[in-house]
Amino acid sequence: MKRNANEVWENCLNIIKDNIHFQSYKTWFVPIKPLKLENDVLTIQVPSQFFYEWLEEHYIGLLKKTIKKELGPEGRLEYSIIMEHTYNNPSPFSIKVPTSSVNTENPEVNMPIDLNRGTSKEIPNPFVIPGLKKIKVNSQLVESYSFENFVEGDCNRLARSAGFAVSENPGKTAFNPLFIYSNVGLGKTHLAHAIGLQVKNNFPEKTVLYVSTEQFIAQFIESVRNNNQNDFVHFYQMIDVLIVDDIQFLSGKEKTQDVFFHVFNQLHQNLKQVVLTADKPPVEIKGIEPRLLSRFKWGLAADLQPPALETRIAILQKRLYNDGIEMPANVIEYLAYSINTNIRELEGALISILAQSSLNKKAITIELAKQMIDKFVKSTSREVSIDYIQKIVCDYFNLPLDVINSKTRKREIVQARQLSMYFAKKHTKASLANIGTHCGKKDHATVLHACRTVNNLIDTDKQFRIYVEELDKKIKM
Ligand code: ADP
Ligand code: MG
Repeated sequence: MKRNANEVWENCLNIIKDNIHFQSYKTWFVPIKPLKLENDVLTIQVPSQFFYEWLEEHYIGLLKKTIKKELGPEGRLEYSIIMEHTYNNPSPFSIKVPTSSVNTENPEVNMPIDLNRGTSKEIPNPFVIPGLKKIKVNSQLVESYSFENFVEGDCNRLARSAGFAVSENPGKTAFNPLFIYSNVGLGKTHLAHAIGLQVKNNFPEKTVLYVSTEQFIAQFIESVRNNNQNDFVHFYQMIDVLIVDDIQFLSGKEKTQDVFFHVFNQLHQNLKQVVLTADKPPVEIKGIEPRLLSRFKWGLAADLQPPALETRIAILQKRLYNDGIEMPANVIEYLAYSINTNIRELEGALISILAQSSLNKKAITIELAKQMIDKFVKSTSREVSIDYIQKIVCDYFNLPLDVINSKTRKREIVQARQLSMYFAKKHTKASLANIGTHCGKKDHATVLHACRTVNNLIDTDKQFRIYVEELDKKIKM
């Protein structure tokens, strides 16, 4: 029976999906296209060179096992890489490489590969200015925004590890530019500084510059006014690691985009590292010239997601630990439960609680925390979270929090799970599917059933109705 590439790859994906985190699966495997299957060699197309490198570095073991499982011991994988950004070659094309990496069972597969085959030439540098010495640049880096202080979680794993890789090997990885994007208050600026600081640690002789886009624009305007635009451009072209924060502010600023385009090209061609941040992925940024946008896509775009509960708690604990301050665990938890979309607000609430308690000599209690959150957060974005609802429900019935996610079908636990679903439906904007995922990995039909069950019980069971009313009060408090 002849099998085709699609079918085989489909089967591989099913295995892979079960073995890695969903976010990684989406990032690294969904974009792959199976191209052909010939003589037990499956060729897959990957969107860029960094993709290929990342797969080889992180997933080669899994890929090999999966391929062998599907195609037998002779099974092999070959990549077709879309080479987008070659300076002499305007249109994308593919190069083929066999999978590399050490393979103890099949040493003959282990051949060296030259990824640059036919793709890059020595690029003459028209900008070299004779006699220009390295000048001292103030990096503008904030010491406390270090990797050390950047708590790792599922929400930031890819961006963080790409950032770390960049700082170990600036300009030499495929992550150039490294493009970090997220909503406000989720750590872009922090991570951008961390990369800069780490480069400084590893390579003290390298010139690192952190600059906000507003500052870049202001400097450019100033240089036009003083008629020393060339100096401005030359200055930027000397930087080894250029970090530009909030690049979306270039939107609509055509002249500045132009000059940034030149700076970017020059740095990139000379294997200097560029790190960019924005509030959106490159494809969604408006008002920026296509030629510049397309460059933002050359390297890796990695996002930062809102942190999960444990990560929020870890971030608060780290802050407190660094500042040498103690705070009751239940207050930390309360904060982490209540503020779930923005780390800056989380820290803001923490700071105002500390300030209140020390100014007014009040003990740090849940009540104080509540007051502060109501004052500073409720007005902007506080919405009850599913996590918080679960916590209230479990506390109320004296159950440990993790039972909600357990598989047990004990009556009291099923009931707590159903109540959590019911209140999540009532008090959050989450979809049924989302609520299900959060409450024991159930599907939307289960959530719907739970809501009906609770409504029925409210109508028929007096004691149950009292539970629901009390819980409702607690949740809204
Ligand atoms: P953004 O630039 O995305 O708006 P920031 O980098 O300014 O966000 O982060 C907001 C605050 O949250 C900063 O004080 C930062 O130190 C903190 N923060 C963000 N992410 C983390 C993290 N993973 N670990 C610790 N602190 C973090
Ligand atoms: Mg920022």
